[in-house]
This record gives sequence, structure tokens and C-alpha cells, in this order.
Amino acid sequence: MSEPTKAPAPSGRAATKKELPEHFKSYRHVWVFVEQERGQVHPVSWELMGAGRKLADKLKVDLAAVVIGPQGEVSRQAAAEAFCYGADLAYVVADDLLADYRNEAYTKALTDIVNTFKPEILLLGATTLGRDLAGSVATTLLTGLTADCTELDVDPDGSLAATRPTFGGSLLCTIYTLNYRPQMATVRPRVMPMPERVARDPGRIVTHPLGLVEDDIVTKIRAFLPDRDSAKSNLAYADVVVAGGLGLGSPENFQLVRQLAAVLGADYGCSRPLVQKGWVTSDRQIGQTGKTIRPKLYIAAGISGAIQHRVGVDGADLIVAINTDKNAPIFDFAHVGIVTDAIRFLPALTEAFRARLSPHSRDRIAS
Ligand SMILES: Cc1cc2nc3c(=O)[nH]c(=O)nc-3n(C[C@H](O)[C@H](O)[C@H](O)COP(=O)(O)OP(=O)(O)OC[C@H]3O[C@@H](n4cnc5c(N)ncnc54)[C@H](O)[C@@H]3O)c2cc1C
Repeated sequence: MSEPTKAPAPSGRAATKKELPEHFKSYRHVWVFVEQERGQVHPVSWELMGAGRKLADKLKVDLAAVVIGPQGEVSRQAAAEAFCYGADLAYVVADDLLADYRNEAYTKALTDIVNTFKPEILLLGATTLGRDLAGSVATTLLTGLTADCTELDVDPDGSLAATRPTFGGSLLCTIYTLNYRPQMATVRPRVMPMPERVARDPGRIVTHPLGLVEDDIVTKIRAFLPDRDSAKSNLAYADVVVAGGLGLGSPENFQLVRQLAAVLGADYGCSRPLVQKGWVTSDRQIGQTGKTIRPKLYIAAGISGAIQHRVGVDGADLIVAINTDKNAPIFDFAHVGIVTDAIRFLPALTEAFRARLSPHSRDRIAS
């Protein structure tokens, strides 16, 4: 299958586009929502700071971080860190009612601050939290939201051009929010590169009150149960990933992928059909409707390389594909292609690595 084609902008777009309403001019600057849970900032926030910096520079406006969280160190730290990833200023809504994510309270905090300071662009990570919040904020503000973008740019007229896959990933479409402000977009983790962190002193921090009391919030948190599933995948941020596809033929053969991953100290993943068949859990799916990964090394065994899989692995530094069909599409974008039976090859590869790699050198692969 070929690469997704970018649908041409309708030739009449410029002509049909209305003059921007006068009051749009009061909406300025690019904002990135800094997602934190219990003091842990989700790295997608910094990836978005990198993308937001480029948009802000093109528009010649400021890049602001928006931190919503409890009073004290957690929110202060998140705001301070945002400056190291390029923020010109930070808006902070800090209130102990915001210690754990609750849609109602976070929506109130974000919509209030948007209505007060009026950003032209607001970016959020397409995480579970970010998707939930972005949808309710866009609905409350009565503005447009483009979800799961793969590219963000600004047109010469200053509109946000938010590109995302459509028609099952075979087309890329660019969506504009012409008549409403702010222009909102979400981006999945690992779609944008992580910008370099540069140590900087915190700049201007603008605080904003929440204006809620506990009785105003319907959702109550009775207990917080940390996720104790140690087998849970960290695919999106893994340095080495081994994945299997339908070519492996059976769930038993998928163990070959897990064994190689274990020897390499890697994480493991799969193509979508394996999730649909119940061979592998959905948190392991790589691709358009699964995880986007950016490992240093990606080994794909028995995966054809359909476009919906490819978009999830395009950011890998080195792709090694093992497939019996020399014409498989994966060989169009793999850096190393091995035309062979993965079911016989994987155990041999695992043994070869096992023989050569000490635990110490496994760490080196990932560094
Ligand atoms: C809206 C939409 C979203 C989707 N999202 C995703 C997604 O997120 N992720 C995803 O992966 N897919 C996704 N898909 C499905 C995608 O289109 C493909 O169907 C899927 O990726 C194919 O999986 P596969 O490569 O494992 O299987 P196949 O396409 O069946 O390929 C199996 C490959 O294994 C090779 N093979 C066979 N036997 C062996 C062997 N013994 N050794 C080595 N190679 C062998 C074959 O030559 C073949 O190339 C999506 C589809 C749609 C429509």
C-alpha cells in the first residue's frame, strides 16, 4: 500500500474563507496544556511545547504553558520545567480541588483561563486525560477541535493548519477552524519529536483562581489506586521494540517475539489483527489506532507494513523487517530487510543475542 496522500486543499478555500471576524484579533498566542498526574508531567506535554514553539515563532507570538493542579510544589515544578522546554510564560491554576483529574473542575479551570486570556491556539496531548479534557473544553467554548493530529502548521493568513489521517489512514486531511476561537488540536504521544531540554530560570508566571468549591463538583474521589501492573507496556517511550504480526500464525508463536524482546531488554508490540484476535492486549497495538513509537531499533516480524501500521513506526531510527514475501510493503520503508520465515528465524536470533549479550551490554543497546 502506498503512503497516505495529502488531500489537496480545495482550490476555493482562500476564496470561500471569510475575513476573520474583528474580535478574533483579541485571541493571540499559542498555549500548550501541561498534563500532570500526581506530580508526573506526561512527556507529550514537552513534545507539544516543541511543536507549539514553531507555531508561535511563525506567528511571532508567545508560547505559554498552562498548568492545572494542586497548590504548592507540584504545579510550581511543572510550570518551572515548561520554561526549559521553550515557554515564554506560564499560566497556573493551582487549587487542591485540582489535585487529581476531574473533568468538571479541569474544564472549568481551562475554559475560564481561555476566556480571560484568549489564546488563538490551544494544544493538548491525545492521552486519556487530554482527550477527555479537550472534548469538554471545546464543547464548552463552542469551538472546533481537531483530534489526533500528525502535523501542525500555520497558513500564511495565520490560521492553524491541523493535519490528521482520514478514510482509514489512506488520506491526510488538513482541518481549519475558520469561524471560532481558540483553534484546538490534540496530538498523540510520540508523534512530535521531543525538543531538547535547556536549563533556564522560570519566566513570568500568571496565576488564575479556580473559583469552585468541593460542593460544586459532582465527581468525588473515594480512593486512588495506583496502577500496579508491572507488565503494562511503555511502548511509546521504549528505545527498542520487537513486534509481531499475522505472519506468526498463532498466539503460541507470538511468544517468540516476547522472548527476543526479553533478551534485548526491549518492549514488545503487535499489529492490529493480533489484538482483534485476542492474542495480544490492546495496549500493545502499534499504529494509527494504537501506539505511536519512536524507538532507536524496531524489529517487525511477520508484519506486512500496511499504512495504518507504518504511521505508528515511521519515527523509529532503525527498522528491521522479517517477512517471507520480498514484495511486502514493509520493505519499502524498513532500513534492513530479511526475507525469511520469522518462526524459524526469531529463535535463532534470540539465541544469538543471548549468547553475545551480557545484561550490561543489553543496557547499552537501549542507550
Ligand atoms: C481504520 C483502520 C485503522 C487501523 N489501525 C491499525 C493499527 O493501528 N495498527 C495496525 O497494525 N494495523 C491497523 N489497521 C490494519 C491494517 O490495515 C492491516 O490490516 C494490518 O496492519 C495488517 O496486519 P499484519 O501485517 O500483521 O497482517 P498481514 O497484512 O496479513 O501481513 C502478514 C505478513 O506476514 C508475512 N508472513 C507470513 N508468514 C510469515 C512467516 N512465517 N514469517 C515472516 N513473515 C510472514 C506475510 O508475507 C505478510 O506480509 C487498521 C486498519 C484500518 C482500516
